[in-house]
Amino acid sequence: MTALERDVPLARLTTIGTGGPAPLLARPQNVAELASALRLARDEGLETFVVGLGSNVLAADDGIDALVVRLEGELAAVGVADGVLEAGGGATNAVCLHRARAAGLGGFEFACAIPGTAGGGVFMNAGAYGSDWSDVLVRALVVSADGEEWRTPEALGLEYRHSALGSGEVVARVEYRLVLRAPQDIKATVADLIARRKDTQPTNKRTFGSVFKNPTGELGAGRMLELCGLKGHRIGGAMISPKHAHFIENADGATTADCLALMVEARRRAREEFGVELEREVVFAGLPELPPLT
Ligand SMILES: Cc1cc2nc3c(=O)[nH]c(=O)nc-3n(C[C@H](O)[C@H](O)[C@H](O)COP(=O)(O)OP(=O)(O)OC[C@H]3O[C@@H](n4cnc5c(N)ncnc54)[C@H](O)[C@@H]3O)c2cc1C
Repeated sequence: MTALERDVPLARLTTIGTGGPAPLLARPQNVAELASALRLARDEGLETFVVGLGSNVLAADDGIDALVVRLEGELAAVGVADGVLEAGGGATNAVCLHRARAAGLGGFEFACAIPGTAGGGVFMNAGAYGSDWSDVLVRALVVSADGEEWRTPEALGLEYRHSALGSGEVVARVEYRLVLRAPQDIKATVADLIARRKDTQPTNKRTFGSVFKNPTGELGAGRMLELCGLKGHRIGGAMISPKHAHFIENADGATTADCLALMVEARRRAREEFGVELEREVVFAGLPELPPLT
């Protein structure tokens, strides 16, 4: 059984840098340790919350009453065999992409600017530039307190920024099927995509990525909030990015309450100006749902 750390602030585990303590944090190094941590939580009647890089998480300022799990060791390792990239659920996209390029395997370039892990990518069915996890994932090993099983993208229920993974189900390993591609071509594509990101998004600020899902229709959530005049709008230490209105920046000692207040205001304005009810993309940890629009 992996050693447990106590009262670790979520602010240390999230890219936005907000969030209070979790009573227990486990850092399992392999599937057996992961399963044992999940069984412990079940036996103690504790919820579990697995965190990857925390790049799409907003956690309550007074903390969350859960066993937080962060995958490390074997569960963050990456290897390549027969055109398949095998990664632990905690492996970062950056390392996966690096290993794929070294092996001359393309198809994962779309993930170059998504600062998360394999498991977080599956849970969110993360995507960019017209591709998402469902395009490359062959199968994922899902571990819970009740056992483990390999699931296909269909069985995982991957849809736009959504999976059907339940509470207490952890992606411990993934397999990506990639295609042969020259490393220099992969490098050129990645350089181009990263440059496009830097031009348009606040890549050097603390954020949790897209705040809302893009609504159906031509106007994306970011452009909608920009047209509402919200770029640079600030509450406490949180600010709607002056560079791209689909991001909230931790401008100066932001709290989760500051971010939530901005989300409430953004939804109110989008509804007022465009009649659209924006749905959050960011995952809430220990937080109630946003108040309904009246
Ligand atoms: C600057 C920036 C740019 C971004 N750009 C994009 C983008 O272009 N496209 C996009 O889709 N997203 C984007 N994001 C959001 C985020 O990076 C993705 O959603 C990413 O896939 C989250 O991965 P993570 O490992 O950080 O997961 P976390 O944020 O830690 O967790 C997100 C959810 O996944 C769950 N989870 C994490 N790991 C596992 C696991 N092993 N098993 C089961 N569930 C798990 C968590 O419990 C949580 O519910 C961006 C974020 C930032 C900060």
